[in-house]
Formats: sequence, C-alpha cells, structure tokens
Amino acid sequence: MAGQCLGRGVNSMKMLKRSFFSAAARALAALAAAGMLAATPQHAAAEELAKNLFGSERLPAATAPQSIGFYSKGCFTGGVALPLTGPTWEVMRPSRNRNWGHPALISLLERFSRDAANQGWPGLMIGDISQPRGGPMQTGHASHQIGLDADIWYQPMPRQPTSLAEREKVPFVSMLKPHSLAVDGRRWTPAHTRLLKLAATYPQIERILVHPGIKKELCDTVTGDRSWLAKIRPFWGHDEHFHIRIGCQPGSPDCKRQAAVPPGDGCGKPLAWWFTDEPWRPSKNPDAPKARDLMTMASLPKECRAVLTAPSPVSVAAATYHGGSSDVAVAAAPADDAPRPKAVIGEAGLPATASAFAPTPAIGIPLPRPRPGN
Ligand SMILES: [Zn+2]
Repeated sequence: MAGQCLGRGVNSMKMLKRSFFSAAARALAALAAAGMLAATPQHAAAEELAKNLFGSERLPAATAPQSIGFYSKGCFTGGVALPLTGPTWEVMRPSRNRNWGHPALISLLERFSRDAANQGWPGLMIGDISQPRGGPMQTGHASHQIGLDADIWYQPMPRQPTSLAEREKVPFVSMLKPHSLAVDGRRWTPAHTRLLKLAATYPQIERILVHPGIKKELCDTVTGDRSWLAKIRPFWGHDEHFHIRIGCQPGSPDCKRQAAVPPGDGCGKPLAWWFTDEPWRPSKNPDAPKARDLMTMASLPKECRAVLTAPSPVSVAAATYHGGSSDVAVAAAPADDAPRPKAVIGEAGLPATASAFAPTPAIGIPLPRPRPGN
C-alpha cells in the first residue's frame, strides 16, 4: 500500500503511485458522475461475505484444535462432529451440518447427556453447535463461531428414536405461556430446573443463556444452593432452547475471553430490567443489516483466512467424535430409523483433548446489547 514502501527509490515510487492514483481517482469520479457506481464502497462490494465462505465448508480444518477470535467474530480449527445419534442424545436439524465443535465442547456434550440421563432426563435434543470451521452463518446465530457454543432444546429426547428426516421437522416448543414472559407450568417441570443446574455445575461451562422468563422461574423457585444461578443469564429468545458456552480452551492463544459474570444470583435489578417495556420495544431500525450480512473476511481475525484453506480430513466419519474407546458404538451418520446405540462412553474413553478441561472461573454474559433480530 502507499506509504509502506521505504528506502531508496521511494520518491520515484511515490510519484508513480501518485500519478496512478490520481488517474484512477479521476476515472472513478467520472464513473460516479455518470451514475455507474454502486453507492457501496468498492472493496466491500467486491469482497465475498464471510458467511458464504464459511457456510459452504462441509468439513473441518484438519489441524490442532484452536478457537480464533470471539464467540461472535471468529472461526476455529480441529473441529470434531458430534455423532447425529448417541445413546443419550439426538442432533436436531441434522441437514444444517452444524454439529461441529471444539473437541472439548463435543466431549462435554456427550458427558452432559450421560449425566443428565443418570439423573432421569431421557436424553438431550441438541440443536446448532458450529459449522465445520465455524465463522458466521448464513442464517441465525450471531455467536456459535468458534466451536464453543451449543444449543440444547428444553424438550426431553423421545424414548423412541426419531429418524433423521423427522428431526428436520420436529417443531420447537416454547416453555412460555403464549404472549407472556412467564413459563408455562404445564411444560416447565422441576426436571428442567435440575437439568440447568447440572449444566451449571461443569466448571468449563461459563454461562448458560435462557429466556428472562425462565431465569425468573428459577429465581422464584430454587431453594438451598443458589450460587449456580450466577451462570444462568437472561437473554432474548431461548424460550425453546438454552445455550451453553464454554470458555477459551488451552492451545487457543487467539481466543478472546469474555468478561466475568457479576457475583450473585442475578435475580435482582438486572433481571428486573427484562420485565420493563424497554427490552421488548420494536427495534427503531428493523431493516438495519445484521452483522452476518456485512462481515467479510476483513472483519474476522486474519488467521481465519488460513482456516478456510487448511486441509480437510478424508471424511466426516474421520472427524466424528467417538470417545476414543473401543466399547463405544456411536454411528457417524446412522441411517434413518437406525436403532439408538446402547453403549455408554466411559470416562476413560475421553480423548486426550478432554484433559484440556482446565477449570475456568465462573463468568457471565455482558449486559444486553443491541437486540438480535432472531
Ligand atoms: Zn445458541
């Protein structure tokens, strides 16, 4: 770029550049005057959106696991897939190909589903995690970009296996009474509270996003130990699923941490705000473009360019989490109506990366930022 070349000959370079740029500027001015240029800046118009590049990747970057950037602006390498069907979970909307994550998150989801089953929850219905190489998505989710976020439906997994085709259509079920901020007592049960409490006990889970109405229900009903409520953070949406987020993992020097959650159960003033009109007013600018519609590769950490061009594993199966144990019979991509695998992944079967689960201090979500449109 101009101004970056140094040393001898710089003056003649500058002159050359100056004359080139002034000629180019004159040409652009002429085009603009003729109405032949779009109003958008030329660079932005020419550069492909990051959501299209990352959204078309079918396989992860086959390098060491590493999250790069922030939950809402980044990418990751070394992703592994959660099997679409496990003994204690089902991946929902499997055609989206968003069952990819950092190995630490994928093995934690497996463990969470097993622990939940042991306390009586029939199994987890797991929603979106990340794209194979993370990055912004063509639809939904501002975050989920660095392989450390996962959505889990509030509905328990059905006792009978659901086919992959059915999982594309199973409707989302809100836990709220229609047009209200209060949970529907016919759907919300003490088992839901126990499930969220279990999620909050894992030190690697730093925060859990739920609808403010669900947070209120917990604030009103949880007795005894309430310290775990600190991780339960109210946020728009999240009435038919909750969102778990783990912290930056070892080996990810370019992963940007979030600020710590405030101490306390979060049931006081910050929650009261959600029960005022302010958070629910219609957006003043509903047609404003979303971040994903503006983000080019230049918006992401520069390391994400290399993530896009990194080699792939040979297949989805080669990058699917199997727990590293020979007694694990979890299919990578079971046929529709395949029986649910019975094996339970043992603690000893966790992959080497699981030992990277260094306990992290409890931290929380930032206070409300501009409301997402979905
Ligand atoms: Zn989410």
